[in-house]
Amino acid sequence: MYDYDFIIIGSGSAGLTCAFTVKGFNKTVLLVEKNKSGGECTWSGCIPSKALINLAKEINIAKKYSDFHIDTSEIMEKVRKVREKIYQRENPDVLKDADIDYIRGSAKFIDKHTLNINDNEYSSKNIIIATGSSPLVPPIEGLDEVAYLTNETFFELEKLPQSLTILGGGAIGIELAQALNRLGVKVTVIEMMASILAKEDPEFVEELSKTLEEEGVRLLTKTKAVRVEEKDGMSIVHTEKYGVFSNIVSESLLVAVGRKANTEDLGLDSVGIIYSNKGIEVNKYLQTAQHNVFAVGDAVGPYQFSHMANYQGILAVQNALFPIKRGVDYSNVAWCTFTEPELAHAGLTEEEAKEKYEHLKIYTLTEKDLDRATLKYGDIFRIKVICDDSKENHVVGAHILAERAGDLISDVQILKTHNMPLHNLSNVIYPYPTYAEVFNKLGKKAYVNKVLSNPFINMINNIKKKDTKE
Ligand SMILES: Cc1cc2nc3c(=O)[nH]c(=O)nc-3n(C[C@H](O)[C@H](O)[C@H](O)COP(=O)(O)OP(=O)(O)OC[C@H]3O[C@@H](n4cnc5c(N)ncnc54)[C@H](O)[C@@H]3O)c2cc1C
Repeated sequence: MYDYDFIIIGSGSAGLTCAFTVKGFNKTVLLVEKNKSGGECTWSGCIPSKALINLAKEINIAKKYSDFHIDTSEIMEKVRKVREKIYQRENPDVLKDADIDYIRGSAKFIDKHTLNINDNEYSSKNIIIATGSSPLVPPIEGLDEVAYLTNETFFELEKLPQSLTILGGGAIGIELAQALNRLGVKVTVIEMMASILAKEDPEFVEELSKTLEEEGVRLLTKTKAVRVEEKDGMSIVHTEKYGVFSNIVSESLLVAVGRKANTEDLGLDSVGIIYSNKGIEVNKYLQTAQHNVFAVGDAVGPYQFSHMANYQGILAVQNALFPIKRGVDYSNVAWCTFTEPELAHAGLTEEEAKEKYEHLKIYTLTEKDLDRATLKYGDIFRIKVICDDSKENHVVGAHILAERAGDLISDVQILKTHNMPLHNLSNVIYPYPTYAEVFNKLGKKAYVNKVLSNPFINMINNIKKKDTKE
């Protein structure tokens, strides 16, 4: 007999989802957390970053109309207040009310059913590892000898620095770069790749980069940070681009080059659970090498987002409970980079789709085609929907660069997830003037494409063409 049906290690997005799902099935659960409940999303990820972005947006608008001093300590205080509000929904009292047992402590495997937590042993039929990830610190000369920030320390700052160098032009680095620049920080981003946001559609990234640079963010792409040092309280990053050496001096340095899975100190080797730098190895049912032990969220990947942690968490609990298991399906993953404009991504990029499909039809529209986007001075709106033409306009990828693109992508996500063709949107009535109206326009384009590619209509058109020639 075990102490619990489930023990869950880690109370971030993944662990909390698992615990509440277990309670939904009326099973017993113990949640173990070595820090405060909520994990990265609440304390050093989604929540504080989006709170900061929203405040920076307001200030950016206000700055257009008047000159004023920005008190960045007040901004940071407000960001932390938002975090506290979210914590009120997931603190130990809330867990207790939901009948979830909660222990603050570090968990380590003794065997595949038993964990050591604060020098006590707890056993469970199933164990779910949801230990998340930590910022990856690259092996750059001198980095270990200087003070630098990561997402784990950034949101604890009393006030913002005057200038900041960000290592890494991924979503985390770029979202913060825009927000901080708007709050008066002189920001330089160093990125090794040819462009920032390397996983995104290049055309949209180009447009977004232009916006960021116009706002004042310095983007150094194809640039490698080779050495870091500190002089007179300033951080100096030595860079190299095409053999040319240079340096960037700033008050602070933020490292945002990637993530590493939290696999240390869990005693995984002792129970034969396989893992690498990329994370814990799981099969399609999210089971580790020990089948009663599951792993989910950032500790597993491959998509390190809160919504993917939720998706995996629910699936792992169901797979532990039911004899018929469901495999993970990553064919409908979507995400959003919360810059302004937002950049949302569903499925394949155009380049990836071209490798996979022979017959593609790509539908695009810009702000010129949409009244709502014309109503706001300088509004940017770009959409690209990539369809498999051999399967009557079935969506394989979509990309939106626009205000609230993260919300707008939902229409395409629904089509894509439920395997519906784009032309299904041609008869949906959207309120005017909205950004969402774009889907009706694209739906109509797709409908015309469908009609014109009908073999019978094609034949009649060809006959007509022949008649006109004669
Ligand atoms: C700046 C930033 C912005 C982000 N913005 C977004 C966004 O807008 N949207 C989005 O979807 N994602 C975003 N993410 C990613 C998102 O935060 C993560 O994907 C998500 O938090 C992962 O959840 P998790 O539960 O797997 O891990 P975590 O939230 O990291 O939780 C793991 C928990 O396990 C605990 N733990 C670890 N080891 C042990 C142990 N041995 N014993 C007990 N407890 C342990 C940790 O203390 C931690 O609380 C962002 C990330 C960052 C850094």
